[in-house]
Amino acid sequence: MRPGSPAPSADCPLCPRLAAFRRANRRIHPDWHNGPVASFGDPAATLLIVGLAPGLRGANRTGRPFTGDAAGEILYATLGRFGFARGQYRAVPDDGLELIDCRIANAVRCVPPENRPLGAEVGACRQFLEGELRTSPAPAVILPLGGIAHGSVLRALALERSRHPFAHGAVYRVHNGMTLAPSYHCSRYNLNTGRLTPAMFEQVFATVRALVDAARAGRARGDIAAYEPQTGRATRRLGS
Ligand code: SF4
Repeated sequence: MRPGSPAPSADCPLCPRLAAFRRANRRIHPDWHNGPVASFGDPAATLLIVGLAPGLRGANRTGRPFTGDAAGEILYATLGRFGFARGQYRAVPDDGLELIDCRIANAVRCVPPENRPLGAEVGACRQFLEGELRTSPAPAVILPLGGIAHGSVLRALALERSRHPFAHGAVYRVHNGMTLAPSYHCSRYNLNTGRLTPAMFEQVFATVRALVDAARAGRARGDIAAYEPQTGRATRRLGS
């Protein structure tokens, strides 16, 4: 097991607005987590899922990404269906749920008011996202949920947005054999408005499952494997 990624302190001061919001929430809800939410899952996982930020009554309350709100219901159910989680998700951090070759991080680790982080806050927290990407081995497949998370992953990897625009279901091969497979965020709003349906989310995870399996097979052979979305086949190659 390699060392864990760098993590912010419980009182990280880098975003004054979010630090003030944390303090205010601690006064109102002293029994809640109300701090930067640590990533969940093995740092050596092949798949890294990047959400936007903790929800006020979700991860900010429970302390585990996507735990306790509507987004977590569909995310953890889908992870279980595609073999990325085992155990029963019960919306609490001590439910015993385990991720399998999968890790979940957020682009912004502290809850933002109205679920809307400012650009400067996304930028300030990127150093911790970079820690998730600089591990060895680095995640082979990255699934950003929503345009802000996608943009922050691109910045962290020094990739041009114009060449890798956010698009639900897109698959981008990037440097070092990584693949980006963005999806609409599985927020209650997106589900209620129909922007994202469970079927659309499952389609992304079917692709991600194939990408992860191909990456694992490639690593076992000592090379880099890739998934051809056009043909649905895993192929072997030597780099990207
Ligand atoms: S969002 Fe990230 S950078 Fe900003 S205060 Fe929280 S942990 Fe620190």
